[in-house]
Amino acid sequence: MELDVAFLESKVFKAVCDEVAAHQDATYVIGGFVRDLLLGKESKDIDIVIEGDGTVLAQNVAKKLGNPKVSIFKTYGTAMFNYKGMEVEFVGARKESYHQSSRNPIVEKGTLKEDQDRRDFTINALAISLNPLDKGQLVDPFDGVQDLKNQIIRTPLDPDITFSDDPLRMLRAVRFASQLGFEIEEKTYEALSRNKERLSIISKERIIDEFNKILLSSKPSVGFKLLFDTGLLHQFFPEMVALHGVKIKNGKSHKDNFYHTLQVIDNISQNTDNLWLRWAALLHDIAKPNTQRFDNKAGWTFHGHEVVGAKMVPKIFNRLKLPLNEKMKYVQKLVLLHLRPIVLAQEIVSDSALRRLLFDCGDDLEDLMTLCEADITSKNQSRVNRYLQNFQIVRRKLKDVEERDHMRNWQPPVSGADIMLHFNLKPGKAIGEIKSFITEAILEGEIPNERSAALELMIQRGVAMGLELKHQ
Ligand code: ATP
Ligand code: MG
Repeated sequence: MELDVAFLESKVFKAVCDEVAAHQDATYVIGGFVRDLLLGKESKDIDIVIEGDGTVLAQNVAKKLGNPKVSIFKTYGTAMFNYKGMEVEFVGARKESYHQSSRNPIVEKGTLKEDQDRRDFTINALAISLNPLDKGQLVDPFDGVQDLKNQIIRTPLDPDITFSDDPLRMLRAVRFASQLGFEIEEKTYEALSRNKERLSIISKERIIDEFNKILLSSKPSVGFKLLFDTGLLHQFFPEMVALHGVKIKNGKSHKDNFYHTLQVIDNISQNTDNLWLRWAALLHDIAKPNTQRFDNKAGWTFHGHEVVGAKMVPKIFNRLKLPLNEKMKYVQKLVLLHLRPIVLAQEIVSDSALRRLLFDCGDDLEDLMTLCEADITSKNQSRVNRYLQNFQIVRRKLKDVEERDHMRNWQPPVSGADIMLHFNLKPGKAIGEIKSFITEAILEGEIPNERSAALELMIQRGVAMGLELKHQ
């Protein structure tokens, strides 16, 4: 693990180092930037810490770089600016102490070492000097480099103190383990369970931020297993916890829906970085515990779990402070429809069933198919292959029907305005009724998806409803 200090030649670092050489206060680049440098990864943010005033340093450096706009946060003594896509943040070194009931620290000026003490993990406490006398020197008081080599997440101080001071760090431990594929060191791991209830002082927004980073990591099951095993998940996501476990009756069992869900998330993560599609994978079976029944013949069933699950989505999104907008509707739709494609794999399938799925799913059809394919978690490879083949058949059938009938993003060939005009109506219930009657007839294949046929049916239906046709 070589420390390559070529970055010191970049414009930003040159400007900082020049300023420090003139200014004298000891200054270092610290945290994620140094960690990622040693891991050979690029990072988008730079954190600079100074044993002095971070806001003054930020302003002076900005002047040297053509005056990017500096944002100053007085209460924290921090300042930042964006430079060529990089977020550069300046902080005065500080020591902190915490109240039991809040994660807002009492901040006092401190030394670099004190600042490193309050960092979350040894691998995040690494600093590199930007001072003229020892520029490029690594400052590593907690053997962070060794932990990077051994792929270990460990707190610099007693983990009970680190986690109790700021419980968000517990989720960060899991997040880094999941993102980097690192192990959490034993004492640090044990402290996670011991301090799990402290999560209650952390806002849902911050929790979900870390949770989403876990969900976006390349193998999210790593993080979710850790969250479950430490009991952290139980603090904010009981519905996901409820998926865990297997019931046995009359010798019949079912698969563990928690581990099945994790497998589906890992599968889908190989094919998409879309956070909301990953959320759909996470929630696709969320109502299985609520809909579980035992039937003497069929064994365990989960009838209607897709409908109940779709209803649970807004409640879960609301509680976790996820957006209640079209993203949520998208997740809801995928949860609701996730069983539909497999039914269409049967040999004899009516065109109307295919048209209905195109109609209900619209542009999200590809994503639905991606979800369905990820949902195959059998250990039997020949069965997996058979299922995948079935989905290929479904894709082909859907394509054929789409080419013929154009049901995707379908617009009814007769509009509400048409109906009002023909029957001399004001807006009201009758119009919606006639419209859905026509939609149904097209989906069922009773009339072609064309305007003239639709107009004819509109007139028939209107008259049958006792409406008077206006003479034109
Ligand atoms: P990334 O930006 O890739 O998510 P990072 O390690 O840079 O990872 P940031 O949230 O950007 O994470 O934080 C920058 C640095 O600030 C960290 O490396 C760590 O040293 C410190 N840090 C951030 N959050 C905390 C915290 N809650 N407790 C202690 N130190 C923290
Ligand atoms: Mg960062």
